[in-house]
Order: sequence, then structure tokens, then C-alpha cells
Amino acid sequence: MTFDAERRLTLRRVARWIVAGGAIAASLPLLAQQPAQQPLTTAQLKPDVYWVSGGGGNSGVIVGSTGVVIVDAKTTPESGKDLLAQVAKITSKPITHVILTHSDGDHVNGLASFPAGLTIIAHENNKKEQEAAIDAGGRGAPPADRLPTQLVSTVREATTIDGVKFELLHWAPAHTSGDLVVYLPDQKIVFTGDIIATNRPDPLIHLEKGGSSEGWITTTKGIAGLDADKFVPGHGDVQTKADIQARLQAAQDKRDKIVAMIKDGKSLDDVKAALGEAQAAAPPPPPPGAGRGQPPGPGAGRGGGGGFASFTEVVYQELKK
Ligand SMILES: [Zn+2]
Repeated sequence: MTFDAERRLTLRRVARWIVAGGAIAASLPLLAQQPAQQPLTTAQLKPDVYWVSGGGGNSGVIVGSTGVVIVDAKTTPESGKDLLAQVAKITSKPITHVILTHSDGDHVNGLASFPAGLTIIAHENNKKEQEAAIDAGGRGAPPADRLPTQLVSTVREATTIDGVKFELLHWAPAHTSGDLVVYLPDQKIVFTGDIIATNRPDPLIHLEKGGSSEGWITTTKGIAGLDADKFVPGHGDVQTKADIQARLQAAQDKRDKIVAMIKDGKSLDDVKAALGEAQAAAPPPPPPGAGRGQPPGPGAGRGGGGGFASFTEVVYQELKK
């Protein structure tokens, strides 16, 4: 083979290699669009009570005498399936009940992988929010065939499921209008949902779902007043009662400051500057129904802005109504 022929052959090989590489590179954005599957981690709190982190909001697993009660169901069909796999490692008993702490997709939409016919317990407003999200359609809508089947509409509902005592509590709208705090009085454990989420410093209030900063204070006082020593938040690690009290005090102090400044006629930018917060313009309040049930974007609820109004913006909007 002449030098030229050899060089042409090499160039053809290089060209083929580039084309093949290009094809792989072209497929990469598609792969990147798949949500990264977060491995789930299960930890035991009491002999028959576990919590599972990863794949969305934290979940609870409570093993009863013949079946299993789950608190919150993760974000996607895949992470819902992963949660079922974690439960199967703990016990062979079947899941009979799911209790939902609120309607956000990262706590609900994994239900798509759960068996049909379960009892799904939620606050009545949670069901309304899910129905509104289904009507609005879109990617984040919850599975329409897994809506709550048993509704809570009182402040405190005591019930025994499969031999385990539960108290389901809703003092006021807080993170959303349909929050439900799950309290196990015998085990002294509370599942708070996103009323407590430790990956951001301030409370996250979904005004578009009827949440309330004042209701958050009322609710968190209620949580801190429970006879419990382990508080599983919606996101982040298990909290002590002292952690909850510190979070409550910080939010109460901040809210008092914001309210005082608004009463003094300060603008939102003035308030933010006084609190040392970024001056980014507040997003306009969404029209009613918009964004309902949309899952938080990547990074949402993970300490970043996540596209949600900040606590300061929420308090300002509430008081300017
Ligand atoms: Zn939430």
C-alpha cells in the first residue's frame, strides 16, 4: 500500500470514528433529559417504623400486624417502584394504606406504581388540589386513578390502622391548604411533610395552593407541642424537637420583622435589602390554578430558589392582599 493509500484509509477510519462518536454524542442530550434516578435509603426509627429518603420527598413505612402503611409516595413511577422495593426488603406484608402529607408531585406521583385498591388518606383540600392539577393537565399532574379515597376534614383525627395508633393533624393551611401531619403517639414520631423541609432556611409556602405563613406558624407550634422526639421532615434529615423549635422561632422572628416593615410602608425591595436578601424582582403571583401540581423543577426544594416565591415575598404578598 502506498503511503497515500494508507493515509486515505486512516482518514476514512477516523471519519467513521467521528461519525460513530457523533451519533453517540447526539444521543447524549436525550439521555441527559431522563431524570437522574436517585438511589433510595431506608433507615429504622423504631422496631416497626422506617423512613426512606431519595427519589423525591421523604417517605414513612409503618409495619402493622398484617400490612404496611406508607406516608408519601415519591415523585415518579420509577421512584414509586423503588420505594416498593425498599418496603419489600423490610417486610413481605402487603401495603394497605397510604397517607399523603400534601398534594405536591414529589410526594404523590409515585403512587402510579402502587397497586390499585389501596386506602389513600389525605386532607380534603389535598384531593381538591390534585383534582385541579388533573384538570389543568401537564407533566406534573398526579395519577388520576390514585386519588385519595378517605378524607380528613377535622383538626385532629385519631385512628388505629392495623393495630397502630395514628393522629392526623391539620391546624391551618401552611405549606399548602391541604397539609396533613402524621403523628404516631406510641412511637413519638411525627411525619411533618414539607411544613418542615431542612434543605432551605425559611419555610416554603405555596400561595398558589392556598398556603399561609401565619398558618405555618400555627401549624409548627402544633408540631412542636406534640409529645414526640423524632420529626421526619418532607426533605432533609430527621429533626429533634429543639430543631423544630429553633426553626419556628427563626421564622416567627423573621415574619415579625417583615410585618413591621410593611406596616412602616417599606417596599418589597426595602424589606429584602434590610434582611440582606437578593433584590431579584418577585415573580408575579400566578393566576389561579396555574402551576398546581407541577413537580418542583430540578433543584427545587433543595436550598435554591427553585422558582418558588421566597418566605419574604410570600409574607409581603399576603399582607398586601
Ligand atoms: Zn411540598
